[in-house]
Amino acid sequence: MSSFERKVLVLDSRYEPVKVVSMQVGFVLLYTGRAEPLVESDRMMRTVSRSYSVPWIIRLQNSSPKGRRMQGPRFSRQNVYLRDGYRCQYCSWTGPLQGLTLDHLIPAAKGGKTTWENIVTACKACNLRKGMRAPEEVGLRLAAIPVRPHFHPASLFPLRYGLTRKTVPAVWMPYIDLSALDRLAGLLGGGQAAALEAHEESSAQNLPNDGRPDLSKHRSKKRGISHGGKPVVAAFRS
Ligand SMILES: [Zn+2]
Repeated sequence: MSSFERKVLVLDSRYEPVKVVSMQVGFVLLYTGRAEPLVESDRMMRTVSRSYSVPWIIRLQNSSPKGRRMQGPRFSRQNVYLRDGYRCQYCSWTGPLQGLTLDHLIPAAKGGKTTWENIVTACKACNLRKGMRAPEEVGLRLAAIPVRPHFHPASLFPLRYGLTRKTVPAVWMPYIDLSALDRLAGLLGGGQAAALEAHEESSAQNLPNDGRPDLSKHRSKKRGISHGGKPVVAAFRS
């Protein structure tokens, strides 16, 4: 039984996935009139007095996905890695996730911001070599100018919740875009893709869903990885 057997997929009014919630939360959305059932199930939720069936998929009423979509993907370590193809942007190294880190082009100590435009994926060797200097000062050249990515938020949905071909309930499949995950699996090979999935499942509960970057968390994560030797999941945990 996958970990999503007792979960409810929430779609917006355009049938785009927005959240995975517990059956309890799905039940509340439904019975307060904020959502309508879309795909019924025979899964029951019991209260003291009676049982209720909770659908596999519900659809939010009057949700306006437009604003959220305009913001693009959330700024996060994982999304920077995804933008950069899990590849060091200086030497093109790609390898275990433990070997990758995030590098400030203009160091934070010199006023460099934690933004899509100032952060790139780097291997730990290049990150060390660069230190507090500008890339060109130490002979490092960027593979590409970093920009805010514009991939469709729906393609990031499976990554956010650790949904894979193995774990996604069959009835959710028509609404879930697994293409980004497939591309990633091709890039990484089995072991790292599995590590990423494990990370996603462990941290999905903690992720903010409003699409805004959480820079305070990001900075603390940046410190956390410099210690090295931590398990991938611990190093990524927010
Ligand atoms: Zn490198």
